[in-house]
Amino acid sequence: MEHPENDEKYIGLTVNSGVTQPPSVNPYLQKRPRRKPLPAASELVDGILKGDVTMLSRAVTLVESLSPDHQTVAQEVIEKCLPFSGNSRRVGITGVPGAGKSTSIDVFGLHVLKDGGKLAVLAIDPSSERTKGSILGDKTRMEKLAIHPSAFIRPSPSAGSLGGVARKTRETIVLCEAAGYNNIFVETVGVGQSETAVHSMVDFFLLIQLAGTGDELQGIKRGIMEMADGIVINKADGDNIGPAQLAQAQFRSALHLFPPTASGWSPEVLTYSGYYELGIAEVWDMIDRYFDFVKANGYFDIKRREQARYWMYESIDEHLRANFYNNPAVASLLRENEAEVLANRRSSFIAARDVLDYYFNHTFNSLTK
Ligand code: GDP
Repeated sequence: MEHPENDEKYIGLTVNSGVTQPPSVNPYLQKRPRRKPLPAASELVDGILKGDVTMLSRAVTLVESLSPDHQTVAQEVIEKCLPFSGNSRRVGITGVPGAGKSTSIDVFGLHVLKDGGKLAVLAIDPSSERTKGSILGDKTRMEKLAIHPSAFIRPSPSAGSLGGVARKTRETIVLCEAAGYNNIFVETVGVGQSETAVHSMVDFFLLIQLAGTGDELQGIKRGIMEMADGIVINKADGDNIGPAQLAQAQFRSALHLFPPTASGWSPEVLTYSGYYELGIAEVWDMIDRYFDFVKANGYFDIKRREQARYWMYESIDEHLRANFYNNPAVASLLRENEAEVLANRRSSFIAARDVLDYYFNHTFNSLTK
């Protein structure tokens, strides 16, 4: 194209033709594989609805990603998968490390898959960020399921707060269900707040216990025991059968002290051995009975609706917090105020009010601009 600058009458600088691009000095650079382009939401949704595991995994990766571009696609995929979700049994499984969760999930999973269908094993492990690797949901921990063609195992999302990790797992459930997974297990370590998060996304909450784990530990478990729809005492094999039965009796009498459950279901206590595969069918019969019971009395739908509402507010909370704390101006104001509060020069409440005032004034102004 003619440049007006090249006109003879033009008195400014002239444009010379450029030099040609030299060949790459490092031949290996060209061979480097290019990053896969971001798939379109419709492509992912089509794949998921066909049960394509690669597409499902890619969509889950986007759900877990912190990048805003990825989140935009992920949210569109979730929205489109939502009408195809919900048709599954969601079972939460918790227990302290060493209780035998992975061994048990391996055999419970195979038991469930005997009747056909598909199983997704997800996990919530808020500690995985600290340990720089996920403890739960690791494929190598569930050897038989890992090679089963109808099982999809996904480790815990790692980044972020418990709320963020839990929200991602909740969204992954939607994708898995749309992909035809009619059994969902959500595993978590029974040591903290994560049980509450899991409880809020499953239909049945299974607590794996061990015989003879000291009174102090059982005390911590009280809150968790109240959430459990079934308590199962693992490792009831060999010399441990007697102690396991004793623990069963103790748990049964402890459960009598709890108030009646909202579902009307009386939580049951069973013993089994995941390793020797004893009593597995009995545990699963209990879970089947629970589903029959809550579907008959309507609690199944009530709970799902309550959970949907809970996740709406959780999602709002999470996004508000992220929007607030990720704002660079707020972050620096927080640092300043924190130093003042620590030095006893400002009250916590005045500091909080000032930072919030700044946030409300400036963020809302910029939103309406
Ligand atoms: P997790 O940390 O809860 O996932 O527990 P694991 O499934 O990794 O099990 C912890 C240990 O307990 C492993 O060494 C298992 O082999 C053992 N274990 C698991 N289930 C049983 C069982 O039913 N009986 C016996 N004796 N050992 C078991």
